[in-house]
Amino acid sequence: MQALLNIIFPKNCIFCQKKGSYVCEDCFSLIEINPFQFCICGKNKKTLKCNECSSCLDGLFVCTRQNQIIIDKIINKYSNIKDLSYVLSLIILTHFLLLEKDDFSNFIIYPLPQDNIKRIGFDKTKEIGKIISNKLKIPLAENIDQVENKNVLLLDIAYTDKMEDIAKQLKSNQIMGLVIKKH
Ligand SMILES: [Zn+2]
Ligand SMILES: [Zn+2]
Repeated sequence: MQALLNIIFPKNCIFCQKKGSYVCEDCFSLIEINPFQFCICGKNKKTLKCNECSSCLDGLFVCTRQNQIIIDKIINKYSNIKDLSYVLSLIILTHFLLLEKDDFSNFIIYPLPQDNIKRIGFDKTKEIGKIISNKLKIPLAENIDQVENKNVLLLDIAYTDKMEDIAKQLKSNQIMGLVIKKH
């Protein structure tokens, strides 16, 4: 079936056009995935939140290093190619692997609602959230009410004011941000 699918809907690497997947192994290896976790303001590596971090989050996972054209292109193309959710999820999972972070018991994941769903045809953040929820066995919150009083991973493509605004309203135990890129 997969072979047939590949003939009818061939997948080519969006960077080098190689057949087989939307981002081939060689091109994926060029992505610089963060092997560390910095504080939210980005100045400190030894703490999740330093004295200069003015944030409502308790910590922030930023999966890739800043200013990578390759990441911007994947995120851009994601509006047209829904399956890139798997590539973006793999980036998140690789980041956690490098951090040796695999225990998310007592966490719930909440993909931040997107406002371009009608135009794109799917919810970019929720698609990734479903995959991460499945792979890491973290329950997926369908709405913000389910997040109250739990440890929460707020998921979005990039770190924006929206994440801070939502974190500000929450009465959760631990509020962690999870983003593909910082800006
Ligand atoms: Zn490639
Ligand atoms: Zn800081």
